This record gives sequence, structure tokens and C-alpha cells, in this order.
Amino acid sequence: MKKLYYIDYPQEHLEGHAHQYRCAFCKVETTTINGKLEGHQPTCEYRKQLEKIGYDAIGSSRETALHEADDFD
Ligand SMILES: [Zn+2]
Repeated sequence: MKKLYYIDYPQEHLEGHAHQYRCAFCKVETTTINGKLEGHQPTCEYRKQLEKIGYDAIGSSRETALHEADDFD
């Protein structure tokens, strides 16, 4: 299960930077996260919640392994 962009996480304003925001959980800047689940820290509550309900980080090694296994079925 995937979303194209992961942007529905809580954000907070970066103090002293007019147009910069960061994830309220893992404190990574939105420009670094860039809409990707793997842009969050592995310990991020938002990332952990989505992974728990079945969303994968795009390009995760686990998914690549699954696809390779399917080819030989
Ligand atoms: Zn986060």
C-alpha cells in the first residue's frame, strides 16, 4: 500500500525561518522529507503509524525483495 505523497503529518513552524516547517514528531524539515515516508526518521510517530497500517516507504529494500521473489513463482 502506497501513497504518492505523504504530506498529512503534523507540521510546526521553524522558529526564525519565515517559510520553513518541520515534522512535529521527528523534527525533520519538510523540504528534507519532500513528501516521502522515508524522509521521516525511523522513530517518527507518523511514519511508524503509517507503516503499522500497511504503508511502505517508497523504494524500501523490503518491497524490492518481495517483487524479486514473485518473479519466480
Ligand atoms: Zn516525522
